[in-house]
Amino acid sequence: MTDIAFIGLGNMGGPMAGNLAKAGRKVAGFDLVAASCEAAKAEGVTIAPTAIDAVKGAGVIVTMLPAGKHVLAVWNEILPHAAKGALIIDCSTIDVESAVQAHALATKHDIASVDAPVSGGTGGAKGATLTFMAGGSEAAFAAAKPVLEQMGKKIVHCGGAGAGQAAKICNNMILGISMIGVSEAFTLAEKLGLSHQALFDVASTSSGQCWSLTSYCPVPGPVPASPANNSYKPGFAAALMLKDLKLSQEAAKAAGASTPLGQHAAEIYAAFEQAGHGGTDFSGIINYLREQGRK
Ligand code: NAD
Repeated sequence: MTDIAFIGLGNMGGPMAGNLAKAGRKVAGFDLVAASCEAAKAEGVTIAPTAIDAVKGAGVIVTMLPAGKHVLAVWNEILPHAAKGALIIDCSTIDVESAVQAHALATKHDIASVDAPVSGGTGGAKGATLTFMAGGSEAAFAAAKPVLEQMGKKIVHCGGAGAGQAAKICNNMILGISMIGVSEAFTLAEKLGLSHQALFDVASTSSGQCWSLTSYCPVPGPVPASPANNSYKPGFAAALMLKDLKLSQEAAKAAGASTPLGQHAAEIYAAFEQAGHGGTDFSGIINYLREQGRK
């Protein structure tokens, strides 16, 4: 009998489902794309002919899909066929409103639910080192935790329905803003004749210190593992950063929060994407800022 059904076997979901299989779970997976199914099959996932077939008899259902509309469509399709007492976990990054709606849908079907978006990218998905930010009841979280631990390293219960998504977009709004801030500082330093290393040595031990500088430095050199040293290959693609910044702005508008820098960061990443750099690592925004300076 299937332990876990896994719907959405893309760049993230495929390796995550594979890690569950490697941990000894019987995983039934489904994706609309045949190539994704094949890749997951090679990792030990049994491919079901439909999402409904995948969830039949499963104690736990995981979804890893592009956006809120996909999650709501899939949950609407599968929940009527879920086993009694099953638990459903959505690991996609989606808008808070859809996440709350998804929880309500699960409650209607008497199924426990958790929103558990991730941080850590495709490397974290492959290496089972993801961080999960979870929202849902204490009981649902307690049931989800052992499953999430087989796909990640850090599991944080952030609160009730939608709290995981809220934590994810707030964190990534900080990240988008701080990456632009750090990139602006290096761009100005270049114009002022200050070396990258000198700015790094000062700011990394001063009040300008932050993750975008010390772990993900947008210029090559000071942090050897950062994508700047690898032609800005992602990493975390600018298009995904833009997606998360847009989600933060939708949430800010709905909640009545003032986030002018978050809004401006979304505009800057939108312009970067429109210039054809959606597939570039998000730290490549420094090249866009340099370009603007020449005009
Ligand atoms: P992806 O596009 O590679 O995978 C999504 C998969 O969902 C695709 O294979 C698609 O065919 C499948 N799908 C869509 N509708 C479906 C349906 N109705 N039934 C079955 N399958 C369906 O995307 P990804 O990079 O794996 O990202 C998945 C989620 O994780 C997104 O919400 C993304 O924002 C989030 N995320 C991604 C990263 C990253 O670095 N890629 C990092 C953190 C979070």
